[in-house]
Amino acid sequence: MQTLESQVVIGLEVHVQLNRLNTKLFCSCSTSYHGDEPNTHVCPVCLGLPGAMPVINREAVKAAIKVALALNAEVQPFTVFDRKNYFYPDLPKGFQISQYDRPLARGGYVTIETDGKEKKITLKRIHMEEDPGKLSYRGSITTARYSLIDYNRSGIPLLEIVTEPVISSPKEAREFLNKLRIILEYLDVFDGSLEGAMRVDANISLSGGGRVEIKNISSFKGVERALAYEITRQKNLLRRGRIVERETRHFDEINNITVSLRTKEEEQDYRYFPEPDLAPIHTEELIEAARIEIPEMPEEKRDRFIRQYTLSFEKAKILVLDPRMADYFEEVADKVEPKRAASWIVDVLRGELNYRGWDFRFAYECFSPGDMVKVLDYLLEDKITEKGAVEIIRTKLDEGGDVDRIIQEKGLSAISEEDKIRQICQEVVNKNPKAVEDYKNGKKAAINYLVGQVMKETRGRADPAECAEIIREILERN
Ligand code: ADP
Ligand code: MG
Ligand code: ZN
Repeated sequence: MQTLESQVVIGLEVHVQLNRLNTKLFCSCSTSYHGDEPNTHVCPVCLGLPGAMPVINREAVKAAIKVALALNAEVQPFTVFDRKNYFYPDLPKGFQISQYDRPLARGGYVTIETDGKEKKITLKRIHMEEDPGKLSYRGSITTARYSLIDYNRSGIPLLEIVTEPVISSPKEAREFLNKLRIILEYLDVFDGSLEGAMRVDANISLSGGGRVEIKNISSFKGVERALAYEITRQKNLLRRGRIVERETRHFDEINNITVSLRTKEEEQDYRYFPEPDLAPIHTEELIEAARIEIPEMPEEKRDRFIRQYTLSFEKAKILVLDPRMADYFEEVADKVEPKRAASWIVDVLRGELNYRGWDFRFAYECFSPGDMVKVLDYLLEDKITEKGAVEIIRTKLDEGGDVDRIIQEKGLSAISEEDKIRQICQEVVNKNPKAVEDYKNGKKAAINYLVGQVMKETRGRADPAECAEIIREILERN
């Protein structure tokens, strides 16, 4: 008998743009195309014009090797490019240069945390390929009368990272992607904030059913939702005794559902064969060059923070989520007690940035480590209150300006209530020479007029008897 609680098996194929490189994979066109006019970063090679010859970008191979090493994969000594043939307008040559049976690397893993436990998501392979162009539609894909093609993306270096089918829930899939993104950003080969930087094909099966592949999901949330939808859909089919067909589906991000694209019988044959215009690559030298460029990785950094700054595991873990946040912390911790620095950065600044949908790149622009040091120093000297400090951070993020100016303009100086009243009394005395003179000439009732002025200034907050006392003191001093 079929159990109702079927086992969920998920494997991901993640396409990562090496978008921090200067040039494309097989030509010298620039990779920074985001926001530019369509078809302005193109040449005969990435337009696939007849006779154009690809030239391998060795920096891209080195960057790919850095990723493979950081993911604990085995970089192969000898790797080959292949032609993957299919016909689609985003691919002007009629084939994509990819890798087939001699990928760049095999194996490897990413450690994730699920329900407080560590789990290794093992990898099958990592290979290089070129990004195709991008189709765009006037209006929606279903109603547009024609499609437009932008080849700026064509030839951008891509890595395909393929996991083993060892992921067991949509949440784990998302954890894996988050972790992968952090690792890639540490290596400085990838900017995840750019549109289309990471695109995922998610494979999922339930015991007793065929494997379904959901193609080209462009957000982590999308991956999680598409998988959750599939679990429900496949469970319902199995429960009713139907079969889950092996097929390829598309995730409709607007309606949060998946729809069938093609079944196994319609799967295309890519007729892979070795790319005759590119020599196979011997990786030995590049591996050495890549190895020395690998920086301190998130887990190493976390452990160092715990040792060096005696931070808690939880704080250190959050600080290393973004290499820029970690750097920011170290700059502040150079001048301020590290635990205090960590707590203001993680609990306050990070919260304010998240609330605005910003990352630490903006912190460097809008509220620098120097600003943080200044605010924390003032706080320690009791020049401002904690509430005032938060207000300064918020104001600076929203309106810019200088910390001292904000303190002045917003009246955030932490003087005591009594000091404030004393200040107002002094101002009232200065502004009313006539009453002061009357008082000095023996007209003691003049003091009542001055107290009245202070009450007016403080909107009745001050205590009249106390004010009279303070004013008398000021007058006797003069
Ligand atoms: P193919 O060669 O048919 O494309 P692969 O073995 O290369 O298949 O796997 C492609 C992706 O599908 C991998 O991410 C893998 O983890 C995943 N996968 C393989 N088998 C299953 C399965 N039964 N259920 C879910 N995912 C699977
Ligand atoms: Mg694939
Ligand atoms: Zn080009």
